[in-house]
Amino acid sequence: MLPFSRVAEVFFEIEKRSGRLEMTDVLAGLFKETSTQEIDKLVYLVQGILAPPYTGIDLGVGERFAIEAIASTTGYPKNEVEKNYKKSGDLGNTVEELIGKRKQRALLTQEMDMVYVYSSLLEVAKTSGTGSQEHKIKKLTEMLNNSTPLEAKYIVRFVVGTLRLGVGDPTILDALSVAHKGDKSLREELERAYNICADLGYVARQFYEDPKLIAKFKVQPFRPLMPALAEREKDPEAIIERLGTCEVEMKYDGFRIQGHKKGDKVELYSRKLEKTTHMFPEIVSAIKKLKVKEIIFEGEALAYNEQKKRYYSFQETMHRKRKHDIGAASEEFPLKLFVFDILYLDGKDLTEQPYQERRKLVEKIFKSDVLKPSESKLVKDADGLEKIFQTALNEGLEGIMAKDLKAPYTAGKRKFAWIKLKKSYGKAVDTIDAVIVGYYLGHGARVEFDFGGLLVAVQNEDNGKLETIAKVGYGFSELEMVELEKMLSKVKTHAPPKNLDHKLEPEFWVEPKYVIEVAFDDITTSSIHTCGMKGEKGYALRFPRLVNIRTDKSVKEITTTNEVIEMVELQRTKTG
Ligand code: ATP
Repeated sequence: MLPFSRVAEVFFEIEKRSGRLEMTDVLAGLFKETSTQEIDKLVYLVQGILAPPYTGIDLGVGERFAIEAIASTTGYPKNEVEKNYKKSGDLGNTVEELIGKRKQRALLTQEMDMVYVYSSLLEVAKTSGTGSQEHKIKKLTEMLNNSTPLEAKYIVRFVVGTLRLGVGDPTILDALSVAHKGDKSLREELERAYNICADLGYVARQFYEDPKLIAKFKVQPFRPLMPALAEREKDPEAIIERLGTCEVEMKYDGFRIQGHKKGDKVELYSRKLEKTTHMFPEIVSAIKKLKVKEIIFEGEALAYNEQKKRYYSFQETMHRKRKHDIGAASEEFPLKLFVFDILYLDGKDLTEQPYQERRKLVEKIFKSDVLKPSESKLVKDADGLEKIFQTALNEGLEGIMAKDLKAPYTAGKRKFAWIKLKKSYGKAVDTIDAVIVGYYLGHGARVEFDFGGLLVAVQNEDNGKLETIAKVGYGFSELEMVELEKMLSKVKTHAPPKNLDHKLEPEFWVEPKYVIEVAFDDITTSSIHTCGMKGEKGYALRFPRLVNIRTDKSVKEITTTNEVIEMVELQRTKTG
């Protein structure tokens, strides 16, 4: 049995290191000591989660409750715990210090193994209903009573969502391969399996049961795949140069849905792979009527009014959902799901099949009023592509998606199998998705919320750091300001996010949790932002403004520094 103290030791080791290679070796060492029954749970703990996102299992313990548990286990009054936390800026460090000099000691302490800690955390997460908060605090206190200072540090960080070891999924995949084979040669297989089930704990468990299962790993209903992502090109010529003859689909600005069906059971997943079945009853019943036993497919849902020939954007579609009761809204803005891919059908994994074959199936299967194939056309040259692009814009759509006829479904990867061309490319370069890391107060003019702007960052995937790219002060509606204030005030922190590279200091730091879409005029060099920083100069957005609060995106999915650099290149070729 793997003692939790050993896990805490390894977490400590990992934190001291910054190189991926070293981290991989330390983690692989721990994996070697872990049994088949334990590995899934350990992998989740390293990821800072208890289960994959679509299970909806979330700890739901705020800082306040953690502070109560710390007070109760150490004997320090709550205000002293808070005082220490204000100073340290990290509740993990606070509990480590206070347990070290605790005023009272539990009578019977026992060594905890990793599975016990995992199961206790799971119990905390699953407790709900009346009295659940007390129960959560009690269970957490019980764990802390049995903890060494170091163990307590990581338990508390895990519980309040600030574990952030700096170990990304790629490092975990490498470490699994190294633990078993001594090198990274199994990484690719493991990664493919992970991309088509989005559950790294499950993949690790299968791998430990029999490594051969991973090479044969298949898509399965109710295990959502990580969505395939599109690259950009600057114009139709560039797309044709890259793909040759290709299928060009309309690009709908709706809500991405992955639909799964097996028998009578149907589930829908969002782009972030959260379950959204309850939000779209009309789509669920249309899927139930499909004449197939098992299916997994993807499409974009949005409201479309046939009489007015009008599409409603993601924003409008969601707004309609909130405002109207779903029944009434369904008539006025009937929801359509434009299906653009199929990944699995009646026992057969289709992800390795060329797009052209998958498209044929999409057209054969989806023929109802609600489920339709995305509109598309085979295109041979840039003129043809330009024509469809203009048609899309005339219909009020945001652009097109060109698809490589021969490409497999590239789960979890941004590849040129799909290339997007949007109307904004003509004027501005594009929008980016950035995470809010801090905010500023305004100075009087805005009454509802004294709001001055947001400091936002992108992700440098080479070193795992967040890097600031803009201070966004425009584009907010009153409603969005109020919404943002509510969201951000709950995640204020005393110190900057651990993995943030920054030069600016906002008035308040926040947990890097909320993603916004930001439009801009172009990208300039800057000495105050750290995105792609070389020497003294980084990149910054010029005239950044809020487009959307992207509740459908997680921090893992924000724009990367390399994408920003690509945008700078595109910008250069556009402007000469
Ligand atoms: P990304 O998904 O690439 O990270 P994003 O969420 O900001 O970026 P866009 O860059 O605008 O979105 O384009 C990609 C999205 O377009 C897909 O995630 C999907 O939801 C949507 N989409 C709309 N129509 C299609 C289509 N025909 N084929 C594939 N995706 C489509």
